[in-house]
Amino acid sequence: MTAELFVHARVCRGTGLCRAMAPALFDLGPDGKARILRTAVSDPEELALVQDIADCCPTEAIALESSA
Ligand code: SF4
Repeated sequence: MTAELFVHARVCRGTGLCRAMAPALFDLGPDGKARILRTAVSDPEELALVQDIADCCPTEAIALESSA
């Protein structure tokens, strides 16, 4: 399975939690909001990690959409 990773910038509060948990996938932009470094995620362990991060995000700003 491949999934597309999204961050809803309007609801992100810039906690940096996602970047701390997966610095290869998330960073914080100059606006202080989360920024995606790579949108396509297909590795099962990485998918599980991203799902954990999405569950931990305090504003539910992270979304994964199945693309294949
Ligand atoms: S964990 Fe959620 S609120 Fe915090 S920076 Fe990442 S997307 Fe934004």
